[in-house]
Amino acid sequence: MTSTVPARAQLPGTIGGVTGAPPAGRATALVDRVAGGADSPPVEMQAPFTGWTTAVLPQATDADTRAVFAQARRAQRAWAARPVAERARVLHRLHELVLRHQDEALDLVQIEAGKARLDAFDEVSATALVADHYGRHAPRLLAPRRAPGALPVLTKAGEVRHPKGVVGIISPWNYPLALTAMDVLPALVAGNAVVQKPDNQTALSALWLHELAERAGLPVDAWQIVLGRGSRIGDAIVEESDYVCFTGSTPTGKDLAGRIATRLTSYSLELGGKNPMIVLPDADVRKAAAGAVTACFASAGQLCVSVERIYVHDSIREEFVREFAARTEALRLGAALDYSAGMGSLTSREQLAAVSSHVDDARATGATVVTGGRARPDLGPLFYEPTILTGVTERARLFAEETFGPVVSVYGYSEVDDAVERANDTPFGLNASVWTRDARRGWDVAARLKAGTVNVNEGYAATFGTVGVPMGGMKDSGVGRRNGAEGLLKYTEAQAIAVQRGLRLRPPRGLPPALWTKAMTAGMKALRHLPGR
Ligand code: NAP
Repeated sequence: MTSTVPARAQLPGTIGGVTGAPPAGRATALVDRVAGGADSPPVEMQAPFTGWTTAVLPQATDADTRAVFAQARRAQRAWAARPVAERARVLHRLHELVLRHQDEALDLVQIEAGKARLDAFDEVSATALVADHYGRHAPRLLAPRRAPGALPVLTKAGEVRHPKGVVGIISPWNYPLALTAMDVLPALVAGNAVVQKPDNQTALSALWLHELAERAGLPVDAWQIVLGRGSRIGDAIVEESDYVCFTGSTPTGKDLAGRIATRLTSYSLELGGKNPMIVLPDADVRKAAAGAVTACFASAGQLCVSVERIYVHDSIREEFVREFAARTEALRLGAALDYSAGMGSLTSREQLAAVSSHVDDARATGATVVTGGRARPDLGPLFYEPTILTGVTERARLFAEETFGPVVSVYGYSEVDDAVERANDTPFGLNASVWTRDARRGWDVAARLKAGTVNVNEGYAATFGTVGVPMGGMKDSGVGRRNGAEGLLKYTEAQAIAVQRGLRLRPPRGLPPALWTKAMTAGMKALRHLPGR
């Protein structure tokens, strides 16, 4: 890892009167891990809670980025040559280190992303869970697999998994630690090297995990972090990667996919959503309302799987809205680096502008603001109240567009079929939620929803925390999956190897082809009844 930036980064010492920032110089040490960036002006990042400078970050050029890929490519060969069990042990040690040093990660995530500490803890736990999961299961999932051959006994066949090579990973700012772990760790344990481009806003969180991974035994060049705007270094990432894993907005994802496809490189895209929640008539209203608070306002709604539309059966709608509003109003907003606040701030000025304009537009097109609906500069420059809307019409932009903020629209319905249809009536298909006292009914409704993850009696956390199952989007919400077996195997090339013995798959010398094809036909018919194939 090359250090190209002089010691110049500084984290704020206190926020909201609570001391909790890492010691002075800590940001500098993390920034020194960034690869490239000597030849272009650095950028200064600000903490959303305060507007104070958190770090001054080097910005890579196109040439820097390509050089970093070359360095990663050299490191990849030695890393891939290590037994998978050894690579998995690095993840086990990382799991330990993340849990042991979590306080520092919580501070960093809060400082960079502006979220409440409990929401930052979601990131720590997802990181630890995913390290443990792949540390435990990667050796089995990556092991060569025997398969029945074309001719029983005579064809020995199997499947071998090879790493892709160097994986390019582009990450957003909203879940900087968890998404780094979920995308980078399986790529590494599969024997790839990684070049990651985190968002500038939240680079320190990724760099923190990078430092811990090195302490856990990862060779330093196997995971490289470059920083820079996508418009400047995106081409280099697309052109140098053997696989591209992108997480971000749907428009950027579509643009990148077009460019990646011309190179026939494989990729996965984790994109936006307009996630629905359906409250069935038999639901426990209090539990559903409490669940909705987390589902809609965790990380101030800046969560790809956050709920932005709620369909409540008409028989309980009024009661639900009352309960939901009361619980939302009880949510404490704050900027402290401790667990005292239930919701933090938005992360950037762009986010504040986007959220404000969506709510203003909904108001102007006839929506009622049940609670919230205004910025809170008294708490910090980017705070916005958790907002519940009713009476939202199709003319409102947020009716169909992702807001990516603490804003939710509540609608009524009388027939469950209608609620399912309206929930599915969107170009997106990322996450959904169903609330009912009848788990079986919940499962059945869930299976009818066109979303990559569906949570019954939870907003998003049940699937998000179950890292052994795949997570990703249908329709405009993405291509491919993270987590589960797919989240690991996507970073590999499958290779089939078959060893043929004795009889070839062609008529032996002297046997007329017509006779041979007859014998083969009889054989194929018999094979259908052979057990174990
Ligand atoms: P974004 O604007 O698409 O940016 C995401 C990342 O891509 C950033 O690092 C960004 O860096 C980079 N980027 C932008 N243009 C690029 C280009 N031409 N080439 C290469 N990289 C480029 O998305 P965002 O607004 O930051 O993130 C919010 C969106 O992400 C929401 O739509 C949310 O739903 C989605 N998201 C999805 C998931 C999921 O798992 N499905 C998870 C989290 C977020 P620069 O801006 O510096 O260029």
